[in-house]
Amino acid sequence: MELTNIGTVREILSRHGFSFSKGLGQNFLVNPTVCPQIAEEGNAQAGWGVLEIGTGIGVLTKELALRADKVSAVEIDTRLMPVLGETLAEFDNIKIYNEDVMKADLRGIIERDFAGLHTAVCANLPYYITSPVIMLLLESKLPIESITVMVQKEAAQRLCAKVGSRESGAITVGVNYYGTVRKLFDVSRGSFMPSPNVDSAVIRIDIGKEPRLSGEEEDFFFKVVKAGFSQRRKTIANSLSSMLGADKEQVYSVLRSLGLPETSRIEALDMEQLTELSVGLMKLMK
Ligand code: SAM
Repeated sequence: MELTNIGTVREILSRHGFSFSKGLGQNFLVNPTVCPQIAEEGNAQAGWGVLEIGTGIGVLTKELALRADKVSAVEIDTRLMPVLGETLAEFDNIKIYNEDVMKADLRGIIERDFAGLHTAVCANLPYYITSPVIMLLLESKLPIESITVMVQKEAAQRLCAKVGSRESGAITVGVNYYGTVRKLFDVSRGSFMPSPNVDSAVIRIDIGKEPRLSGEEEDFFFKVVKAGFSQRRKTIANSLSSMLGADKEQVYSVLRSLGLPETSRIEALDMEQLTELSVGLMKLMK
């Protein structure tokens, strides 16, 4: 079954009485070159299990299953279950979980379904939860080696920005804390059905950096980063005092010890400076 053929897709969906949900970010890929490329560049290969988030009608799921040993996919929309039963009927290495990715037991799925295999995540992410999903995958410290995902172009720019630049955000710090990130390729809005009003890009995160901080320090580091970027136009002293209850004088003293001006904003600090800021402040606030 050709799942990138618009006529075929329309026919299947109308037979199942399916209509697209904007709220669930349902823009299905119909450009035939994109899914094979995500699978090829996203570690879908022998010896690997791939976790997919959001199957739609299974266009990417199928390409993953053709290459990887196993594919387990989490899809929230119950209306898609009978569709997938039809579109993926020929595969015996796919398991679909009809669940919300934010609530699913991803560790359990990986440990049960991918025992003895390397694990990658591949997805055309629902855009309304791009950052929460990526942060969930990283912060839960799942045994995943790479995350290859389609995101909105603007999100890709933020993800791939340099930490310490104006384009960076909390998500930039998150991916650079846990691994390395790079953009693979752009995807035009016309590649989807229905077409969204933004272009997209596929990015790949390779996980595997040794954690810089211990558990407690790491928790505090991400509190500082999230608080700072949630009010990025304010100075660090102002945002951390309003969001974390930090004493401004304490923030100033840590900034001074790093040779940074008291008026610094979070987006100006590189990874090293952010780490030192949070470790220094944690000691003072204890
Ligand atoms: N992979 C398909 C493709 O490329 O055509 C579909 C991608 S579509 C952008 C996103 C998919 O994620 C939809 O099928 C949607 O129902 C699903 N989805 C949305 N929110 C979800 C959630 N919280 N948990 C799991 N799946 C979700």
